[in-house]
Amino acid sequence: MAKTELEVDIEQEAIVRLVGRTCRGPLSDEDREEVNRLLAEGDTVEAQKVDKAGRTDCGYDFNDTILSNELDGLEHEYECPDCGLTGIYIAPLFDE
Ligand SMILES: [Zn+2]
Repeated sequence: MAKTELEVDIEQEAIVRLVGRTCRGPLSDEDREEVNRLLAEGDTVEAQKVDKAGRTDCGYDFNDTILSNELDGLEHEYECPDCGLTGIYIAPLFDE
Protein backbone atom coordinates (compact mmCIF):
# COMPACT_ATOMS: atom_id res chain seq x y z
CA MET A 1 0.00 0.00 0.00
CA ALA A 2 1.71 3.17 -1.17
CA LYS A 3 0.32 5.52 1.39
CA THR A 4 2.16 8.73 2.15
CA GLU A 5 3.32 8.93 5.73
CA LEU A 6 1.60 11.81 7.42
CA GLU A 7 3.67 14.09 9.57
CA VAL A 8 2.15 13.74 13.01
CA ASP A 9 2.99 16.37 15.56
CA ILE A 10 4.60 14.54 18.49
CA GLU A 11 2.49 16.41 21.06
CA GLN A 12 -0.71 15.67 19.16
CA GLU A 13 0.27 12.01 18.93
CA ALA A 14 0.86 11.95 22.70
CA ILE A 15 -2.58 13.46 23.32
CA VAL A 16 -4.28 10.95 21.02
CA ARG A 17 -2.46 8.08 22.72
CA LEU A 18 -3.41 9.31 26.21
CA VAL A 19 -6.68 7.48 25.68
CA GLY A 20 -6.17 3.79 25.01
CA ARG A 21 -8.35 2.68 22.10
CA THR A 22 -8.26 -0.93 21.08
CA CYS A 23 -10.38 -2.66 18.47
CA ARG A 24 -13.13 -4.67 20.11
CA GLY A 25 -13.64 -6.96 17.15
CA PRO A 26 -16.74 -7.54 15.05
CA LEU A 27 -20.21 -8.35 16.37
CA SER A 28 -22.30 -11.06 14.71
CA ASP A 29 -25.48 -9.99 12.89
CA GLU A 30 -27.49 -11.94 15.45
CA ASP A 31 -25.89 -10.15 18.41
CA ARG A 32 -26.17 -6.80 16.65
CA GLU A 33 -29.90 -7.31 16.15
CA GLU A 34 -30.26 -8.18 19.82
CA VAL A 35 -28.27 -5.10 20.86
CA ASN A 36 -30.36 -2.86 18.61
CA ARG A 37 -33.57 -4.40 19.97
CA LEU A 38 -32.45 -3.77 23.56
CA LEU A 39 -31.39 -0.21 22.73
CA ALA A 40 -34.78 0.44 21.12
CA GLU A 41 -36.35 -0.69 24.38
CA GLY A 42 -34.05 1.66 26.28
CA ASP A 43 -32.22 -1.18 28.05
CA THR A 44 -28.71 0.17 27.60
CA VAL A 45 -27.25 -1.92 30.43
CA GLU A 46 -28.33 -5.24 28.93
CA ALA A 47 -27.40 -4.01 25.44
CA GLN A 48 -23.86 -3.30 26.65
CA LYS A 49 -23.64 -6.78 28.20
CA VAL A 50 -24.70 -8.50 24.96
CA ASP A 51 -22.34 -6.28 22.95
CA LYS A 52 -19.39 -7.02 25.27
CA ALA A 53 -20.03 -10.77 25.38
CA GLY A 54 -20.41 -11.01 21.60
CA ARG A 55 -17.09 -9.44 20.66
CA THR A 56 -13.75 -11.12 20.20
CA ASP A 57 -11.65 -8.26 21.60
CA CYS A 58 -9.35 -8.03 18.59
CA GLY A 59 -6.97 -5.73 20.48
CA TYR A 60 -5.57 -3.79 17.51
CA ASP A 61 -4.38 -0.32 18.58
CA PHE A 62 -7.00 1.92 17.06
CA ASN A 63 -4.84 4.99 17.76
CA ASP A 64 -2.58 3.76 14.93
CA THR A 65 -5.54 4.13 12.57
CA ILE A 66 -6.41 7.60 13.89
CA LEU A 67 -2.80 8.76 13.58
CA SER A 68 -2.42 7.41 10.05
CA ASN A 69 -5.20 9.72 8.84
CA GLU A 70 -5.66 13.48 8.93
CA LEU A 71 -6.47 14.95 12.36
CA ASP A 72 -9.11 17.18 10.81
CA GLY A 73 -12.16 16.81 13.04
CA LEU A 74 -14.03 15.06 10.23
CA GLU A 75 -15.64 11.67 9.84
CA HIS A 76 -13.38 8.94 8.49
CA GLU A 77 -14.19 5.42 7.42
CA TYR A 78 -11.87 2.75 8.75
CA GLU A 79 -11.18 -0.93 8.43
CA CYS A 80 -9.28 -2.77 11.14
CA PRO A 81 -6.18 -4.34 9.53
CA ASP A 82 -6.37 -7.29 11.96
CA CYS A 83 -10.02 -8.34 12.07
CA GLY A 84 -11.55 -6.37 9.18
CA LEU A 85 -14.09 -4.54 11.34
CA THR A 86 -15.31 -1.46 9.50
CA GLY A 87 -16.91 1.68 10.77
CA ILE A 88 -16.73 5.43 11.04
CA TYR A 89 -14.94 7.60 13.57
CA ILE A 90 -14.53 11.33 14.02
CA ALA A 91 -10.91 12.42 13.92
CA PRO A 92 -9.67 14.68 16.71
CA LEU A 93 -8.99 18.28 15.77
CA PHE A 94 -6.24 20.37 17.29
CA ASP A 95 -5.91 24.13 17.37
CA GLU A 96 -2.75 25.19 15.65
ZN1 LIG B 1 -9.85 -5.42 14.90
